[in-house]
Amino acid sequence: MVTKYISHSNGEIQEWCWASDHEIFTSPFWTSCYYIDGILIDTGAPGGVEEFEEFLKSIGINNIEACYLTHTHEDHSGGAYLVKEKYNIPVYASSEGIPVLKNGFTYPLYRKIAWGEKVLPIKAEQIPKTIYTKTRELMFESFPMPGHAPDQVAFIENQKQWVFVADGIQLKYKRLFGKNSNISEDISMIYHSIKELFNFISHMDHLQLFLSGKEVIYGKDFILDRLTEIESLYQTVSGLYALGKSVDEIESIMFGEDDFLEMHTNGELSRKNLIESLINWKLNL
Ligand SMILES: [Zn+2]
Repeated sequence: MVTKYISHSNGEIQEWCWASDHEIFTSPFWTSCYYIDGILIDTGAPGGVEEFEEFLKSIGINNIEACYLTHTHEDHSGGAYLVKEKYNIPVYASSEGIPVLKNGFTYPLYRKIAWGEKVLPIKAEQIPKTIYTKTRELMFESFPMPGHAPDQVAFIENQKQWVFVADGIQLKYKRLFGKNSNISEDISMIYHSIKELFNFISHMDHLQLFLSGKEVIYGKDFILDRLTEIESLYQTVSGLYALGKSVDEIESIMFGEDDFLEMHTNGELSRKNLIESLINWKLNL
């Protein structure tokens, strides 16, 4: 296991990052939890619970009033049981996420290797539209961003121009989880959510975007670039599909060499899934 502690905005935000350092990964897949003035955003993965508890102790458990989940995937909800059951701190999720956390869920071996064995079920409460921090000096707005997960939300602090988006936006769109995975992503919904977010934050000239496990991204151009990127992928794939090319042929034309992640994930995370989702695009551009 590897962990990182990172301080942002003159110490107003404490970020805890965790990754499995299993030998099958060429580089760590990080997941993040953030602490800001009495609140936690996300709880890391089940494999990192011990290190997560150390992070909570370093903050001071008594300082933590509430925990908000961006979504229920195991790399974000893994420590929720610890927070709720051991420390009696309320955990909040979106209305789509609450039953997932209550009923529990399973996931395949490659995700267990990456994130740990099991997410323990908990009873979560519904995320309110607005969230005040402990001192009431900060106010976050919860912003639905379905696409990566149906229960995905972003947390937006308007005055500070902070946006905690977790996996709601990726650094680059190269692959998608497909219908054979319980993370079934939809590129048109992802695009739509990013567009809505961009419209919501378009006045922010000093935006700081927090993507789980990534560096902080400054400025809204990054969001605009992701929209342009997805539009371009859509145009290319629809053009090739209209010429009668199959998904395999489109993949080979666009990407060339074999997709190593497709093999490691039994096709759950692949470029083919991205192409299929682009072909089945549902919403308006
Ligand atoms: Zn996720």
